[in-house]
Amino acid sequence: MATIFSKIAAGEIPSYKVAEDNRYFAFLDINPLVKGHVLVIPKQEVDYIFDVDDKTLADMMVFAKRIAKAIERVVPCKRIGVAVLGLEVPHAHIHLVPLNSEADISFQKPRAKLSPDEFSELAKQISEAIV
Ligand code: 5GP
Repeated sequence: MATIFSKIAAGEIPSYKVAEDNRYFAFLDINPLVKGHVLVIPKQEVDYIFDVDDKTLADMMVFAKRIAKAIERVVPCKRIGVAVLGLEVPHAHIHLVPLNSEADISFQKPRAKLSPDEFSELAKQISEAIV
């Protein structure tokens, strides 16, 4: 059975898409730690990130790098933090989180609240900032 993230990448479940190519998909986390929290996934369905094959994993970070640079252009921050947990969704993904302090990447803190319009506008801005 397809994972929820596969369904998102396939457009079967809506998401605030930031970017995609034939192998990867990036979209806003629906329950963001901070504004600009993006998830990057391989379209290939693998649960655990360290079971992803070498080339797909390496290229995934290069894809994520382009997204991170775009987030930086849109969301004021010191840098983009990277986290991998995978405790909730069994489809490999990288969290990209704009950081102004260490606390911004604490998964125990209350999440940021954005309206649907704010999510849409943010996804559009990040998407347009990709070089
Ligand atoms: P993890 O698996 O890394 O522990 O956490 C999964 C992350 O995916 C969480 O930050 C959660 O907010 C996000 N997430 C879970 N389901 C959805 C969804 O349906 N859409 C989006 N955009 N994000 C999701």
